[in-house]
Amino acid sequence: MRQFQMAYEGQESFRKSLKKIIMWRQNLPTSGVLFQILTSDEETKQVPEITKIIDEEIPDADYYGCTTNGNILGDELNMGSVVTCTVFEYPTTKYRVIQYEMTEDTEIVSTASLLQTVRDNQWVKAIELVVTIRGMSMTGFTEHLSLLPQNVQVFGGGAMSEAMDASHAKVFSKGKKISEKAVVFVLYGGDDLHITTTFITGWKPLGREMVVTSAEGSILYELDNKPAYDTYYRYLNIQNDEHFFNNTLEFPFFFQHNGINMLRAPVSSNPDGSITMTSDMDEGCVARMAYGDPGVILTEIRSEAEKLLEFQPEVVRIYSCAARRTFWGDEVNLEFGPFQSIASTSGFFTSGEFLRTGEFVNQHNVTMVIGALREGDTDPNATKTLSMSNKHFSGQVSMIRRMATFVQAATEELEEANRQLEIAAITDGLTRLYNRKEISHRITETIRRSVNGGLLEKAAYPISLIMIDIDDFKKVNDTYGHKEGDLVLVGLADVLKRILKKYVSAGSAGRWGGEEFMVLLPERDVKQASELAEKMRAEFYKLVFSRAPHQTISLGVTEVKGDEDVDRVCMRVDGALYEAKHSGKNCVVAK
Ligand code: GH3
Ligand code: MG
Ligand code: MG
Repeated sequence: MRQFQMAYEGQESFRKSLKKIIMWRQNLPTSGVLFQILTSDEETKQVPEITKIIDEEIPDADYYGCTTNGNILGDELNMGSVVTCTVFEYPTTKYRVIQYEMTEDTEIVSTASLLQTVRDNQWVKAIELVVTIRGMSMTGFTEHLSLLPQNVQVFGGGAMSEAMDASHAKVFSKGKKISEKAVVFVLYGGDDLHITTTFITGWKPLGREMVVTSAEGSILYELDNKPAYDTYYRYLNIQNDEHFFNNTLEFPFFFQHNGINMLRAPVSSNPDGSITMTSDMDEGCVARMAYGDPGVILTEIRSEAEKLLEFQPEVVRIYSCAARRTFWGDEVNLEFGPFQSIASTSGFFTSGEFLRTGEFVNQHNVTMVIGALREGDTDPNATKTLSMSNKHFSGQVSMIRRMATFVQAATEELEEANRQLEIAAITDGLTRLYNRKEISHRITETIRRSVNGGLLEKAAYPISLIMIDIDDFKKVNDTYGHKEGDLVLVGLADVLKRILKKYVSAGSAGRWGGEEFMVLLPERDVKQASELAEKMRAEFYKLVFSRAPHQTISLGVTEVKGDEDVDRVCMRVDGALYEAKHSGKNCVVAK
């Protein structure tokens, strides 16, 4: 395939350019000509002119296009209209352009119709799309596209306008009207056409994890149960004013959806403290802020571009977020320009980027989605190399990168310290068993779960408790000292841990008080629990201490009856232990 790209500079010069293409095409057994027309003018004034000339000069050509937030013309940003003409040279290559009008209700119909078309045309390998998003939730749309056969790749972008306002963005294609509510699918396939896709963000996660506790569609209400806007104010001191969009742009949210890392940028903040995001975020997902740094982004671009070089594309299509253009300003060609050294590159700045990754078609934001096309096999003797400006690769690490590293390291230390504190708060210092508060909590929770929070009359499974007290422990302390007493306590704790690990991994043991212990045994009835208690008694007696002789314990066992409260069960197991003490100690009594 061969691609011709031009900035539109009036009818006459365009007609001349087309005549050159016609001349070149005469000598080749071409299978078709496909034009992509991109314009940053949301009035699409030049589009009828351009399409009329194409219709007149190359009537068998097909075309499609949309309005944009700027066009990618090789390694240059173009803020007018760009025409890209792709000539497919292999007779086996097929393509087809389909435009569907789309409202929120018919979006499903259009994707259903696409699914049928793909089923009827087994040659389809990939689908490129341009769509008007207009602030709509595209989740239903992408979910339907995910139903396409797994081997069909999907990539594309949302139409946009120069003013960053997708509400009047338009798409169009041959034979259809220029539409504010439509999607254009370009189906590609054939034995000799090869297509690969990828996406690049370059943004890196920053700081601690936050849970999306409330969200609906693209409105993010709460993070960690606090108004979402508070996060931007608290961590970045970003005010809720007209600069909100630009200020938050460098710090979009990073989250996982369908198993892949994705970005969502805030569009505006609302009076209730919620934030309107570029598209949907899942309630319950874990999000982090992300930061963009030129050096980091370009490093990632370089490594992705080098991978793409191996594919030996002849044509590269880039769908890059309008937010990236704002982020880079005049330097935006630094991140898309390198692709032109690999292959003829065209594309535009979008209101959303679409890509299939594995099973799912996802809507990305702040991302570059790339589709690369090639006809025929790769050339083992190819010599093309990636050419990339050294700007931002000075070897010196930027301030933001250093600060991000600092924040990351500090966050990790804090998170680790928090984890340690959480453990300390539930652990008994001497024995490393749970403390009384935690084991009581676990007993309550286990009972609650067994009756499904009170919904079940009868517990779904038995639960038993064992209460243990060391016999005549005072004597150990009095005779051999407190330290030796501690060793006996630790010895008993280790016996309990060992037995639980071996026989009841779901069980837990805690220190109830001085030399008293409580063992919780989910899914064990009183008979099984008594057998385990007997094992504990026997094992503990085997322990050898440095000075004190063999020690004994008394054990009480009981089973929870239905939805009992913890105090009642504990009183009963305490009663069983009391009986054990009064039956001569060193024994098990079940009640
Ligand atoms: P019984 O067989 O009736 O249980 O007699 P006992 O001596 O074991 O019972 P008592 O309640 O009279 O004594 C418990 C002792 O446990 C008293 C206390 O000093 C000791 N103790 C409590 N906590 C610790 C501890 O952390 N370390 C040590 N070494 N001793 C402890
Ligand atoms: Mg005691
Ligand atoms: Mg005792």
